[in-house]
Amino acid sequence: MGVCMIAAQSVAPSTRSALVLNADYRPLSYYPLSLWSWQDAVKAVFLDRVNVIAEYDDSVRSASFTMRLPSVVALREFVRQERWPAFTRFNVFLRDGFRCAYCGIADDLTFDHVIPRSKGGRTSWENIVAACSPCNLRKGGRLASEAKMHPQVRPHRPTSYELQDIGRRFPPNHLHETWMDYLYWDAELEN
Ligand SMILES: [Zn+2]
Repeated sequence: MGVCMIAAQSVAPSTRSALVLNADYRPLSYYPLSLWSWQDAVKAVFLDRVNVIAEYDDSVRSASFTMRLPSVVALREFVRQERWPAFTRFNVFLRDGFRCAYCGIADDLTFDHVIPRSKGGRTSWENIVAACSPCNLRKGGRLASEAKMHPQVRPHRPTSYELQDIGRRFPPNHLHETWMDYLYWDAELEN
């Protein structure tokens, strides 16, 4: 199949991403939102890996076919999420809601060892919190009790479910109308 021969008609590629849902119709990821470029989405359709749930008005065409660009696709096979997410910078920030664990500010974030490394504190889910640089500096190499700075969040290893749930609080900058149902279908309805 000549997928790479496809010519897009009047498509602004950056705005024609497809929202990718798992086989249960929930987004694979909320934050960052699971999106594919239109090229990847079209490829996946031809490889029979996804069902097209919604489409854009724009089409792509090759010599032999015309196809509307998918705006929402669902994987045909369910992808099981790992129960425990990786211990990464992004995931620590996400767990703490992209806010300083001490003062709640969302700017200039870095990490803080609650028990300082100099006092045997480990670099682990249980001892790392997101912190703004000023708080990080102020606390320095002291214990929370010495610095009288106690994290407002309990450093802990989150489940993937927990991180997904937090990620839903961060709506993406660009939302296509066809994505709304799948991003917010279980949100509380307004009266
Ligand atoms: Zn702070």
